[in-house]
Amino acid sequence: MGAMVFDDIVGQDQALDFLKKVLKSEQISHAYLFVGPEGVGRRKTALALAAALNCAKGGCGHCSICRRTIRGVYPDLKLIQPEGNFITIEQIRELQGSIKLRSYEGHRKVIIIDEAGSMNAEASNALLKTLEEPQDEEVFILIAASVEELLPTISSRCQVVPFRRVPREAIIREMVDRRGIDQSQADKIARISGGTYSRALEMLEGEGWRLERREEILSLLKKISGSPVEEAFSVAGALLSQAVGDQDNLLEVQKEEMEESLEVAMSPRHGAFIRNKLRKRHARQLSRKRSLEINDILDIISSWYRDLLVYQLTAQDSFLINRDHRNEIRDMARRARIERLTNVLKEIGKIRRMVGFYVNPGAAFEYLCLLLREV
Ligand SMILES: [Zn+2]
Repeated sequence: MGAMVFDDIVGQDQALDFLKKVLKSEQISHAYLFVGPEGVGRRKTALALAAALNCAKGGCGHCSICRRTIRGVYPDLKLIQPEGNFITIEQIRELQGSIKLRSYEGHRKVIIIDEAGSMNAEASNALLKTLEEPQDEEVFILIAASVEELLPTISSRCQVVPFRRVPREAIIREMVDRRGIDQSQADKIARISGGTYSRALEMLEGEGWRLERREEILSLLKKISGSPVEEAFSVAGALLSQAVGDQDNLLEVQKEEMEESLEVAMSPRHGAFIRNKLRKRHARQLSRKRSLEINDILDIISSWYRDLLVYQLTAQDSFLINRDHRNEIRDMARRARIERLTNVLKEIGKIRRMVGFYVNPGAAFEYLCLLLREV
């Protein structure tokens, strides 16, 4: 009985064992902090825990409460995510207003704060006040990459639950046994996914767009070394269009949201207020989407230079992420210089940290490509 909602989560046995024990003992804390890398199942587990806390059967996965919670549309569930690069104090205030209201269905109110590290100081302090006065029926689940991302005053009020990179074998097993993918394809995807199961799934389900993007970017990287400056700029342009090219869906959704919201405006002035508020939020959403895309592209680029470095140091294929391109990696690794490779990896790290704050992706890619042509 119970906790079927956790069945879909791959490679996080320790975290799940802990949470199942908590549920069984009914010693529920007021706040949990899920820490670990992006894409390993923290969010999915948070939603599953929220379902298990309210489902009459402890998380059956089938009842209306479970299904609505997992889809993120259950009224006693609040999901806070950064709308731009930050979670703002307005978002925390709105949350505080809404949790003061009584539970709709007489259940626990579960508040998930995704990317809690993106709360600015104001937002953190506002949240702290709420955490300091815990209400019986509230459970907070904060999600972050590491404990250090949060103010110590916040993290010390949370029960920390660590999540780990999913072992490659677990991803392969899952894809082969449960999804019927053939062994060599599963092996390739598991390597590229770098221990993040959600990325592996995206590669399977996103009609291969991510694999295509990777192929396209790797083919650009193969020709950039030693190329003329104009070539480096054209590669930078291609990377930029990869990063911003895929905004159409979001723009469409935003347009619909704007139209629907304006329909309920009670006066022209109210309409202007709604328009203004939504525009700001939409701009934040767009810039956030762009940072995610840029990070994704940087992941692919750094995997390539990491592979060159690894091959230089070990002369072995088995450690490569992009093993399906091993011939080119061998060739390029022979020509590349170690200090240039380590420098490129360092610079990619710097750009990654900058992207959240200072976003001129075009200039960042140009800078990077000029370095890459010298590798
Ligand atoms: Zn249920």
